[in-house]
Amino acid sequence: MRQDNLIDGAWVRADSGRTLEVLDPATDLPVGSVPAMGVAETRRAVDAASGAFPAWAARPVEARAATLVDLSARMAAKRAGLAALMTAEQGKPLAEAQAEVDYARSFFDVAAAAIHTLEDEHPEVPGKSVRVHRRPVGVAVAITPWNFPLAMLAKKVAPALAVGCTQIVKPAEQTPLSAIAFAEIAIEAGVPAGVLNLLTGDPAPIAETLLEDPRVRKLSFTGSTEVGRLLMRGGATNLLRLSLELGGHAPLLVFEDADLDSAVRIAMAAKYRNGGQTCICPNRFLVHASIHDAFVAALAEASAALVSGVGTRPEVDLGPMIDDAAIEKVEAHVTDAIRCGATLVTGGGRRRVAGATNRFHEPTVLTGCTAEMRCWREETFGPVCPVRAFRDDDEAIALANDSEYGLASYAITSDPGRIERLGLELRTGVVGINDPGPAVAAVPFGGVRHSGFGREGGRWGLEEYLETVAVSRVDA
Ligand code: NAP
Repeated sequence: MRQDNLIDGAWVRADSGRTLEVLDPATDLPVGSVPAMGVAETRRAVDAASGAFPAWAARPVEARAATLVDLSARMAAKRAGLAALMTAEQGKPLAEAQAEVDYARSFFDVAAAAIHTLEDEHPEVPGKSVRVHRRPVGVAVAITPWNFPLAMLAKKVAPALAVGCTQIVKPAEQTPLSAIAFAEIAIEAGVPAGVLNLLTGDPAPIAETLLEDPRVRKLSFTGSTEVGRLLMRGGATNLLRLSLELGGHAPLLVFEDADLDSAVRIAMAAKYRNGGQTCICPNRFLVHASIHDAFVAALAEASAALVSGVGTRPEVDLGPMIDDAAIEKVEAHVTDAIRCGATLVTGGGRRRVAGATNRFHEPTVLTGCTAEMRCWREETFGPVCPVRAFRDDDEAIALANDSEYGLASYAITSDPGRIERLGLELRTGVVGINDPGPAVAAVPFGGVRHSGFGREGGRWGLEEYLETVAVSRVDA
């Protein structure tokens, strides 16, 4: 297993020789170690990306697209190894890790196809001939989180490389090995030296060096709202183009016409993916009063039946929380909710798993939740379902929109008029109607308000890496 960083096509260690250890969150066993890069190595990565940009941007679109398609095919061939590595460093069940490899690959296939849809435009202007074209912004930076180690990277690398940008990626400290395995595949697929560079290490000095360098023209970040704000401030000096995919606090609305079995199936699929450590997983369950009790009973029964354990075991539904701070936050949210008057229906604490760490939390259902509770205001990022009843559509929509976040929302209903209204009025960038998986590579994905801005997926994802040029000609 490769454990080096990639700069200008060479696999390198840190100048200082320092490394960071990567541990399996389910067992605390070492998975590997990666270089702790510093300022000098970061500058070399910018030199490499900047040097490689003109030739990569000038390469014909068909050639760049072919490289991306080849990269995707190579990921498919290495699916089992990539998934096993992801489960080892991130903890998610192996089946979810395999699905993530497929999901990550799909961004390369979609970007390779979408690049052909971007054509010059010629707006009609009397007395002038106008051509509007687009060109790549230049050197792009990607900073990604630990919860989807491959997919979050793919969402950024695929569009950047498709349009002709070069890139420097900084994966999360807890899951860098999946990113390194991906970079190795990119090199095998023929991505030229300097087009893709990868740095691991302490994020602050790396990010500061990148933000200060005027050759860097784009930053795409996925992670917490707090760090997103920090990066936006840091990017101000160079007026950096930004895409910020930040935290979420998704509401899931269950209306009175919902079929109970389908509602529970959709809620379970959306909530417990990656143990609830997903930016779009529902954190607030709003259920029509007429079916509240039946829904809660069925949700609690299905939740309690989920199996926790080490992700390599085939029967496992829920892996560990990523670290001690993460499980402590989940516990704090549950304790706070109960102290503020919520009723605990199932779960509520840690779950012992033989031969594993103490980072497994029981799937938990709480009812009677209110805006005073932390779980109703902040991302819990764990397997907790806070539930509240509503009486009519106006109340449901008002409660759903009562959050500073706006990434995803879900609704379970078949009423066409209501579906139309929800699409217009729910203030989130993504709305899933009877759909627990609205994030697919061909569809724009991203947030509004404190969930950030910018879109990933389809041609919308490509546009984040392009600048628009208007050439206005008057014949002399
Ligand atoms: P995080 O702490 O913000 O970290 C995300 C990335 O930022 C990591 O690579 C991290 O590096 C880096 N980072 C941390 N401090 C930094 C700094 N001062 N300067 C520059 N980079 C810095 O978030 P997380 O805990 O990994 O991920 C969970 C969050 O991501 C949740 O809020 C979740 O909702 C959000 N998320 C959003 C989406 C979306 O599409 N909107 C998708 C997935 C996750 P280190 O790991 O080395 O510290």
